[in-house]
Amino acid sequence: MPKITLNKTKFFNNLDIIADKTKSKDKIALVLKDNAYGHGLELVAQMAQEYGIKKAVVRTTNEAKIIKKFFTYILVLADIPQVADATIRYTINDKTTIKDFPQGTKVELKVDTLMHRNGIAMDALERAIEAIKHQGLLLEAIFTHHRSADELSSEWFVQNELFTQVKEKAKALGYEELRYHSANSASLFRYEDFDEDMARVGIAAYGCLESKASTQKALQPILSLSASKNSTSQLSRGERVGYGGSYVMKTGAKVSNYDFGYADGFMRILSNNYTTPNGEKLLGKISMDNSSFLSEAEEIVIFKDAREVAKLAQTIPYEVLTSLKADIVREVIF
Ligand SMILES: *Cc1c(COP(=O)(O)O)cnc(C)c1O
Repeated sequence: MPKITLNKTKFFNNLDIIADKTKSKDKIALVLKDNAYGHGLELVAQMAQEYGIKKAVVRTTNEAKIIKKFFTYILVLADIPQVADATIRYTINDKTTIKDFPQGTKVELKVDTLMHRNGIAMDALERAIEAIKHQGLLLEAIFTHHRSADELSSEWFVQNELFTQVKEKAKALGYEELRYHSANSASLFRYEDFDEDMARVGIAAYGCLESKASTQKALQPILSLSASKNSTSQLSRGERVGYGGSYVMKTGAKVSNYDFGYADGFMRILSNNYTTPNGEKLLGKISMDNSSFLSEAEEIVIFKDAREVAKLAQTIPYEVLTSLKADIVREVIF
């Protein structure tokens, strides 16, 4: 079976580096959406609690329920609850949905400061706050999301400036006591002196931040993935491997088939174009449940750093990681 290994020492080390930036563990809201970026929701939540993290961010109510026992604060990014909950906060992404939230729900208002994906427009702030009050919801925070914090462009400053305007406007409306937050991983690592109420940190905790800022160099990937051998064949020069016979053996060699394929989350675009960290070459097309390598080992490490896979697959580590299926066996090591 393919197996995911999570390195707790590296995870805690990443959290140390992040806590150093936020200046306190309490300001870290660990982003655990989409099965904790493919790492495994409950396993990561449990480790985070052991480290002393109290806040988490997820996508849905279902995810929030699974990890509720580990945290005192959970922010749901994109769901509407049936009933209000003391621990779970909900994001208002659009003013038309405010009427759908049950009375007493704790909510956080997302404001669009440049990304133009979702969130309410800046000039609709006052009306949105009024509608929230009218619906009987408890507004706890206002937040925004950066569109290009990882590119070292000046847009980061523009968005910070716009978010400052949002804060001032909300304060002028009498909302002094709200929490304000805007930073994701890349944004947090651009601060010299972080001073917001919390940071929503995902990819940095998993050690795969690719920001061009230099301060996050010591972060290390915590997930590695291995696969087990199904079979070995001795192939001759000229014989072809896999669907479509797309790889032609250049010499006779032993080729083994391993139990990790695109249905498990292996990017099929890497067919004929991947070598493992230990130098085992992928031969032919990646199949649904398996793939062939120039190796005889019983078990091979497929990858230890999702960023390297992402580069080859012309995507981002987020996609490589979240593609890993939830039913893959996961194990924590030290
Ligand atoms: C996913 C997400 C984050 C985390 O982003 P990273 O780049 O992984 O740190 C933060 N905030 C919001 C609103 C998100 O959707």
